Amino acid sequence: MPAGNLLISAAILFSGSMVTQSLRLFDFMNMLCIRRTSFYRHQKNYLQPTIMKVWRDEQTTMINQLADMEGGLILAGDGRCDSPGHCAKYGSFSVVEQRLNKVLDIQLVQSNEVPNSSWCEHEGLRRTIAFFEDWGLDVSTIISDRHRQNAKWIREQMPNTDHYFDVWHVAKGISRKIESLGSQKDCSDLKAWKQSIINHLYWSAASTPDNRGEVIVAKWCSVIGHIQNTHTNHPDPLFTDCAHGPLEGEERNRLWIQPNSRAAVKLENLLTSKALLKDIGKLSAHYQTSSLEAFHSLLLHFAPKHTAFSNLGMQSRLILAGLHYNENSARPQAVNSEGQMRYSIVFPKYKKGDYTVRPIKIKPSYLYVQKLMETLFNDYLQHRRLMKQMSEQLSENLPGPMSSRMEHPDKDEAIDSFVSRFNAVV
Ligand SMILES: [Zn+2]
Repeated sequence: MPAGNLLISAAILFSGSMVTQSLRLFDFMNMLCIRRTSFYRHQKNYLQPTIMKVWRDEQTTMINQLADMEGGLILAGDGRCDSPGHCAKYGSFSVVEQRLNKVLDIQLVQSNEVPNSSWCEHEGLRRTIAFFEDWGLDVSTIISDRHRQNAKWIREQMPNTDHYFDVWHVAKGISRKIESLGSQKDCSDLKAWKQSIINHLYWSAASTPDNRGEVIVAKWCSVIGHIQNTHTNHPDPLFTDCAHGPLEGEERNRLWIQPNSRAAVKLENLLTSKALLKDIGKLSAHYQTSSLEAFHSLLLHFAPKHTAFSNLGMQSRLILAGLHYNENSARPQAVNSEGQMRYSIVFPKYKKGDYTVRPIKIKPSYLYVQKLMETLFNDYLQHRRLMKQMSEQLSENLPGPMSSRMEHPDKDEAIDSFVSRFNAVV
C-alpha cells in the first residue's frame, strides 16, 4: 500500500475530521485520492487497533501513577447521549480522576444492549466500576449528577464509596425553578435574587470542606432569612448567623422579600423541599464535574452529534477526545508580549446576555497524534498479523446492529407493495 494512502486515512481520523467532507475537499481540488471504502478498510484494519493500543498504554500509565498515590480513586462521572436526533443509539459514560485531572475510562453503550436508551448511562457506570475492580483499584469517591438509578446502585453496591452530587447540576435545577416561580403572580421580585441564591448554594458546599451534609443544609437554609433582611438567629443551630459582615451601600438597599408574603412562602417551599434538602446534604465540597463538561465539549469536535458513526468508529473518536483532553488538561494560561495574563470576555447562553471572563490558555499540543502515527506505521510494518488479530477481536465483541431487533421484510415483496401503492395513487 502506498504510505500516503494510510497517512491520509490516519490524518482524517486522528484530527477528528469527517471522512466525506475531507475526501470531497481533495476531489474539488482535482487531486486523486483514496475512496471512502478504502478509508473504512484502513480504519477497521489498522487505525482502530492502533487507537485501542495507545489508549490501553495511556490507561496503564495512569493506573500505575494512581497506584503510587494514597487513598482510593476520586472520580467525577457523567453520561452523554451520543447520537444524532432523538433516537439515541449510543450513550457513553466517562470518568475523570480528579487528582490527575485526566479521563481515566470511557465506556460506550449501544442502546440495544440494555432494556432502553435511558439505561445507557447506568450500564456505562457499571462497566467502568467493573473495569476498576479488575485492576484492583478502590473507588473512594464518586461525584456525579443526580441520576436516581446510579445513586441507588452506588449506595447499595459500593458501601465503601462516598457519593456526592455536583453543585452545577443541582444549581441548574434550582435556577430553572426560581425563574419559573418569578413569572408567577406577585413573585417577580424573586428574579432579582436568583443569582445570589445560586452563589449561596456554591458557597454552602465549598465552605464545608469536611462535606458534613447537615452543615451544608443549615448554611443553605439561612438564605431564607437573608433575603428577608434577617441575618442573625437563623433557626438551625448548626448555622445561626450569616457569614457576611455588616451590609454596606447597595447591599443594604436590595429588594428584600417581605416575610409571609406570597413570594416568600412560595420560595421557602421551593428551597427547603424535603427532596432538595436531601440532595443538598450530598453536595460535593471539593470536586465538581466541570472537568467533564470540558471533555464533553471536546467530544462535540471529535464526534459531532449530526453524524452517525459505527460502534467502533464512535469508540475510537471518544478515545481520541480522551487522549486530547489528557495531554492538554494542565495547559497554563497564555501571556501576551508584555507578560500579562490573557483573558477573553464571553457571553454564555445560560447567562442570558451577561458576560463571563475566561482565562485564555496556551495553544493545545498534539503529541498523542505523533504517538498514534508512530505506533500505526511501526505496527503496520512489523506486526501486521497482530493488528489483524486485534481488529478481528474488536469486531467480535460488538453488539449487533440496531436494526437486528426489527423484523425485516422480504425486500422484493416490500418493493412490489410500494410500487403498486404508488401507482394506485397516481
Ligand atoms: Zn445575611
